[in-house]
Amino acid sequence: MQPQPRRRRISPRRLAALASVSALTFAVSTSAGHGHLSPGASVAGAGPGSLSPTSAHGPCLISGDRDVQMSEGIPTAPGYTRSTGTVRALTLMIDFSDAPGEGDALDRYREFFPQTREWFATSSYGRLDYRPEIPVPDWLRMPKSFRAYGIERGAPFDPGYRELVRDIVAEADPEVDFQSYDLLNVLVTPNAGPAALDTVLSVTFAGNGEAPTADGVPVANASFVYSRQDDGSGSYDLTGYRVLPHENGHVFGLPDLYTAEGGGAVGHWDIMSEDWGANNDLLAWHKWKLGWLDASQVGCAANRGTREYALTPLARAGGPKLVFIPLDGHSGYAVELRTRAGNDEAVCRPGILVYRVDATVDTGMGPITVHDSRRDSGGCTRAPNVHAELSDAPFTPGERFEDRRAGIRVAVTAADAETETYRIRVTRTSRS
Ligand SMILES: [Zn+2]
Repeated sequence: MQPQPRRRRISPRRLAALASVSALTFAVSTSAGHGHLSPGASVAGAGPGSLSPTSAHGPCLISGDRDVQMSEGIPTAPGYTRSTGTVRALTLMIDFSDAPGEGDALDRYREFFPQTREWFATSSYGRLDYRPEIPVPDWLRMPKSFRAYGIERGAPFDPGYRELVRDIVAEADPEVDFQSYDLLNVLVTPNAGPAALDTVLSVTFAGNGEAPTADGVPVANASFVYSRQDDGSGSYDLTGYRVLPHENGHVFGLPDLYTAEGGGAVGHWDIMSEDWGANNDLLAWHKWKLGWLDASQVGCAANRGTREYALTPLARAGGPKLVFIPLDGHSGYAVELRTRAGNDEAVCRPGILVYRVDATVDTGMGPITVHDSRRDSGGCTRAPNVHAELSDAPFTPGERFEDRRAGIRVAVTAADAETETYRIRVTRTSRS
């Protein structure tokens, strides 16, 4: 049986929960203390803080509307955990009287670490120094049964999660100074709740300044991981941890890219789209949003005319990574080079990936859509849990992407096998 993304985390109820969380965020994000778990605690927030709307990249700093809860816009709204430098992740393993932890709590921890730390180091080119810390190396027993918290798929923050966070804080407080951490990971004993193949309960509450406080600061950015994302293919030891970098992606302000219909909008090109199966990276757009690319690595094609750009593999550090072609103040096309390297283990057709980013579309509603260079081809992969149709989406030399109505053309003109550098020619007949 294959896990179907549509059975996963997104539901209208879940979106409603996010909506209420975020609305509160706007109200409280300026009142933070200096504690790190709190929104507004970091100086610049997540993302490329040095960019200004008046810079050469100004036209590419697209933004959403106020009613978008989690937007693809740059810069990321305040309240999320900062995504560069040293980030300390308080990691607690919890269990319940009706789901007692089996074996060593540290074995649960080892399902996710050091893999998650390494995943972020690789994806961020070393810019995110993610440090998991376990001040309580045992199961932390919750005072109520798992059943009593009423947690199910799509459960909102109130009342179940509020109660759970309050109890976690109360139980851990004697041994934990919550002020010294930037985010909270709660690794729930895997025997609590349904199997992930049936229902994925794992969830993140991000930018939630109305969360219960601990040592004077709200537990604003917290990821909860349940069960095991084990599809029975025998790859759990290699791939099962990937739910955590996905959930932490939300803590850094990234939206879900899968929709109610599944992973068909972005496929396996971003861990916010698919976090089962073979390892995958983030889109270059997300890396820019997280502050892992410099402005010098991003081309902003806002003006009429034709320009040539070079692109180097996204998984490799250094060199040009992203060309963005803004359509208006809210959306545009992103262009990048994907190859099989680094966290990108499932790439079966290297080449130039083109996708549309719309900052007015909310998390889980399809804010990003990959353009398939080979529609209805069936794709080039048979790897389990990798959306096949989009696996051969990239354009190769001699091919081109065109949006006639917008007057935009992206031609792949050359690929240097030795340096793995591709050249593209962007032509636009209209200004953004
Ligand atoms: Zn998610």
